[in-house]
Amino acid sequence: MSIKVLDKEVVSQIAAGEVVERPASVVKELVENALDAGSTQISIEVKGGGVSLIRVTDNGTGIPSGEVALAFERYATSKIGSLEDLESIGSLGFRGEALPSIAAVARIEISTQAVAETVGSYLSLQDSVVIEQRSQGRSQGTTVSVRNLFRKVPARLKFLKTSTTENSHIANAVSQYALAFPEVKFVLFVDGRVALRTPGSGQLIDSVIAVYGLEVARNMLTIGSGDDAWEGGVATSAFPVTGMVGSPTISRSNRGYLSFFANRRWISSRLLAWAVEEAYHGLLMVGKHPVAIINISLPPQEVDVNIHPTKTEIKFHHEHTVFSAVQKAVRQALIEQVPVPKIEEVATTYGASSVPRQVSWPLPERGASLSSLPVASQTPAVSLPMLRVLGQMLNSYIIAEGPDGLYLIDQHAAHERILFEKIKLQSSRQKIEVQGLLEPVTFEVNPKQGEVLKHHYENLAEFGFSIEPFGDRVYLVRAVPVLLYKKDWAGMIRELLDSPSGEEQGDWTEKIAISIACHGAVRAGQALTDDEMRELVRQLEQVAVPHTCPHGRPTMIHFDSAQLRKEFGRG
Ligand code: ADP
Ligand code: MG
Repeated sequence: MSIKVLDKEVVSQIAAGEVVERPASVVKELVENALDAGSTQISIEVKGGGVSLIRVTDNGTGIPSGEVALAFERYATSKIGSLEDLESIGSLGFRGEALPSIAAVARIEISTQAVAETVGSYLSLQDSVVIEQRSQGRSQGTTVSVRNLFRKVPARLKFLKTSTTENSHIANAVSQYALAFPEVKFVLFVDGRVALRTPGSGQLIDSVIAVYGLEVARNMLTIGSGDDAWEGGVATSAFPVTGMVGSPTISRSNRGYLSFFANRRWISSRLLAWAVEEAYHGLLMVGKHPVAIINISLPPQEVDVNIHPTKTEIKFHHEHTVFSAVQKAVRQALIEQVPVPKIEEVATTYGASSVPRQVSWPLPERGASLSSLPVASQTPAVSLPMLRVLGQMLNSYIIAEGPDGLYLIDQHAAHERILFEKIKLQSSRQKIEVQGLLEPVTFEVNPKQGEVLKHHYENLAEFGFSIEPFGDRVYLVRAVPVLLYKKDWAGMIRELLDSPSGEEQGDWTEKIAISIACHGAVRAGQALTDDEMRELVRQLEQVAVPHTCPHGRPTMIHFDSAQLRKEFGRG
C-alpha cells in the first residue's frame, strides 16, 4: 500500500482507543473531570458492566453554555493554556481528550450548569456529531451519560470480559478516587444497587471503612503527619508521604490492596510498590502483600504525567528520593506502631503450628521386611503401592517405605490432593458435608469483591457455604463446608474473590474446590502423630491422581530401591 494520511474518522478511533480501553476507563475520566471541577459530591451509576450506561453526576463548577460543544473537540481544555503550563500540571486532566474520545465510541449526553449562569445546557452526540443542543434548567454541576459503549467498535467489545469483571474494574477505579479524596462524597450504583458510599468527612479512615470495611480499617496505621498532611498540610520532608498502611496481620495474597497517588492522582507504580514491600521486609510471609494507601506530594515540576495515554503511569524526576521517602515513611509507621514480634508469635502469626518441634522418627517394627508387604501388582501404574510410614521430617514431609523404595511425601500437598478429590466427589453427588456455625459470622467485602461475590454465591453454596447479604457489603456466614470448620475459611473466600476472575462457571467450581482443599489441608510445619501420618498415607493410596496436588505440584519424591543400592555401590 502506498503511504497516505489516514482519514479523520480512523484517526479519532485510534486516539479514542488509547484513552478508552474499557468501561472503567470512561468512569475514571469522568470522575477525574468531576474532581477537577471542584465537586464535593459525585454520583456514579453503571448498568450492564458499563456498556449499557455510565452516568456521572457532580456538583462542580459546570461548563458555561457557550463552551459545552467545544468541550467535545479534540484537545479542547480549560486546564492548561501553554507549553509552560505542561511543566506544572495541577489538575487531573489536561489534554482535552477524554470527552471527544468517549464521543467517538459511544452515545454521549451532557447536561450542565455553570456557577455564574442562570440556565443550564443540554447537548447530545452520536458518533462524535452533535444531534441536539438546547438550554435546560438544572442545579449547578454536570451530568454526563454514556450509552452503548463500543457498539460501533466490535473488536473492542469482543475483548471486554463479563459484566462482573467490568463492574469490578469500575468499582476499583471509584474506590481509588474515594481513597484519594476523602472530603468528597462518592456514591456508586451498580445495576441500581449501592456498591460504594463514602461520607465525604475529609478523614481518610472513613474512606477506608467504606472501601475495605471495618476489619481492615481497625488495623490501619497512619503514615506521615496524618490526615492533615493528606489535605496538603504540614510538609515534613522534601516530598511528604501521607496515607495509611495495614499492620502486617492483615496481609493479602495479591498486590490489589496497594494504592498509590501522586498529588492525589491515582497512579500505578512498580517503584512505589517495591518501596512499600521493602518497608515490610521481614514482617510478612513470602507471597503475602500489604495493604497500603499512599499519597506523595511533590511540586508539579517533579513529575511528568504526560507519558502515558491514560495518565496512570508517570515519571518521577528524582526516583531515588521518592523511593526512599516512601520506604522510610512506611517503615517508620510500622516500627513505631507495631510491637516487634517474638519468635513464638511469628510462628503462630505465620500459620505454623505452635507445637514445639520434635523429630518423630519411629524405627521400623522389628521383623518387618519388604517381602512382608503386600505387593501392588494389579493396581494401575499411576496409583500408589501400599506404603509404611517411617516418620516425619522437618514437620513437613512424611517418610515412607514402599516395595519399590523410599517415598518422601509433602504432607500439605498430599492432603490437598486428598481433600480435593473428596470435595469433588461430594459435590458431584450433591452431598457436601456442611457445618453450621454456632453464631453467624459477619464477613465484609470491598466493592470489587462485592461484585464478584454477588455472582458466585451459588457456586459457593454448592460447596456448603451459606452466605447471605446483610446490609452494605456485609455478609452473614451461617455455615461452611466441614473441611474448613475451624480453619481460615474467611481468608479462603477473600483469596478467591481477589483472584483474577475466570469467566466460565466451570472455572469457578474448580477454583473453589482447589481453594477449599488448600485451606483445609494440614500445613507444612505441623507435627503429625504416627496415626495421623498413617491415615494420610492410607487416604493418599486411595486417590485417583496421587502424585500431584490440585495445583499441579508434586506431592512426593520417590527414591527407587535399585537406584539407592547403586548409589551405595551395591547395585
Ligand atoms: P481535560 O479534562 O483533559 O481538560 P476533557 O475532554 O476531559 O479534557 O474535558 C474537556 C473540558 O470540559 C475540560 O477541560 C473542562 O473544562 C470541561 N469539563 C468536562 N467535564 C466537566 C465537569 N464534570 N465539570 C466541569 N467541566 C467539565
Ligand atoms: Mg478530563
